[in-house]
Formats: sequence, structure tokens, C-alpha cells
Amino acid sequence: MRNILVRASGAQGQVRVFVGITTDLVEDARQRHYTSPVASAALGRALTGGALMGMMLKEGQQISLQFLGDGPLGGVFVIADAEGSVRGYVRHPEVELDLNSQGKLDVAKGIGTGTLYVIKDLGLKEPYRGSVPLTSGEVGEDLTYYFTKSEQTPSAVGLGVLVDTDFSVKAAGGFILQLLPDAKEEVIQRLESNLEVFSGGVTGLITEGKSVQDLIALLLDGIEYQITEEREVHFRCKCNREKLEQIVISLGEQEAREILETEKQLELTCHFCNEKYQFTSEDLHHLFRQAKKEE
Ligand SMILES: [Zn+2]
Repeated sequence: MRNILVRASGAQGQVRVFVGITTDLVEDARQRHYTSPVASAALGRALTGGALMGMMLKEGQQISLQFLGDGPLGGVFVIADAEGSVRGYVRHPEVELDLNSQGKLDVAKGIGTGTLYVIKDLGLKEPYRGSVPLTSGEVGEDLTYYFTKSEQTPSAVGLGVLVDTDFSVKAAGGFILQLLPDAKEEVIQRLESNLEVFSGGVTGLITEGKSVQDLIALLLDGIEYQITEEREVHFRCKCNREKLEQIVISLGEQEAREILETEKQLELTCHFCNEKYQFTSEDLHHLFRQAKKEE
């Protein structure tokens, strides 16, 4: 029960807050993808940000975040939906980097400079696409810039992952705080002073034992608010054998058989969850016989 997302509305709707504790989810991602500490931090922040943004969606919609920078991690990719599922990967999860000048995992260097793409599938004909330059590569700051620039919603985003000495994830979580257009100056000032508690990072508060409700109370201290939603979130992928069979069919029988012969096996891996799917010669025989029948 450590992957919890909570949404709250404050000051008669002048401010809305999304808060999550995602420690187990990020540890799950680390174990699936064998991520190095800096890759765990980059992926964990992006997964947490994606999960929180999933709360802004309606049923059936999904959001994709792509941090495409020139750093050695080679890009961070996340997809989240409105039902509490999130999945994602780092292109080069094995990359290790020295700590930055503050003694923290150097996510900014790992991601590098480039572009953040936000793609929302809202169930319309064309997905919504937004993009902004990566301002720091620290993920949270990049999302802050995206909300302000691309969605014209003044926001503060804090995302953190604390990696333990054995490389497991000790704490992960974050928040998105957004102002609505009619927000009054006194509310804004109060929020700014509340945010100072978070200046050392959100994971310190989580390791102290703070719950999502405690974090909301800190963010909205002195402001009247209601918690409007609470839900669990999990690392969950939507791949399955049928989807991978379609990819094998699209390779064509000849190419599929050539791979099987030269590699001794035909194995496809889902990028998002690292699940492996094997196809034997017999599988191919059935698959292509079936595909021909359907033609
Ligand atoms: Zn998958």
C-alpha cells in the first residue's frame, strides 16, 4: 500500500494538488529494468510525474512523456493512464555517473539537453502533442516549464527518488501543485512559503514517515482544502503475447525464420516492462498458417 496518489482542491478551487508516494512502483521498475542508481532516479521521477498526470485524465485516456535529451541515458519514456497504471523505461539503464556537485544523483547530466514531448491520447481522432525544450533535465523542473509554457498553468512540480546503498529504492514520490486563473495573491504567497519545506526534496519527508495526507497538509498549510480523490497506482504494462504475435507476423515469415535460425531463438522484448516473449519454429508455423487463413 505504498503506491498512493491523492488529489486535493484548495482555497475554493484556486489551487489543485496531486501528491504521490511511489516507492514500491519505482523499485518494481528498477527490478524489471536493472537500472543503475542514476537511471532509477530519472525513470522513477518520470514515472511518478506521469502517474500524477494520469490523475488529470478521464477514463480510457492516456498520457505519454518522452524526455529526449543528448545525455548518456538516451531518453526516458513513460506512459500513464487514468486507471492507475504506469509503465516506462530508460534507453540505457546501465549508465552510471558520478554524483553532482550537491552530492546527488546527476539526473540532469544523464538526460542532457533536448526536448520533452507530451502526448495525450484523449480518445479523439488526433492525439494532443505538446513539446518544450528540456530546461534542466531534472524532470520535475522540466514538467514545471511544460505546464507553464505549453498548458499556461502556473505550476510547481517536485519529484524525487532516494536510492539506498544497496541500490534499491528507499523512497520515491512527488507532487504537482497548480494555480487556477483566479488564484489570489495571498494564496500564491502562502503556497510559496509552504513550498520551502520541500526545498530539500520530497524523499526526505517520505523517509521521515510522512504520508500522502501529511504531504498535502504541508503543501496546503493555512489554506482550506478537501481531498477529492485517493487511489493506488502500479507499474503495469499493456503488452501481451497476442500483441507480440502481430509484430512477428509483420516481420514476415521469411525474416522471422531467418532470425530464428541465426539467433537460435526468436525472442522479442517489450521495451516498457522488459517482459520477454519467445517464439519457437513451431509457434511460427502456427502463427503464419493462421495469418494466411485470415487473409
Ligand atoms: Zn510490456
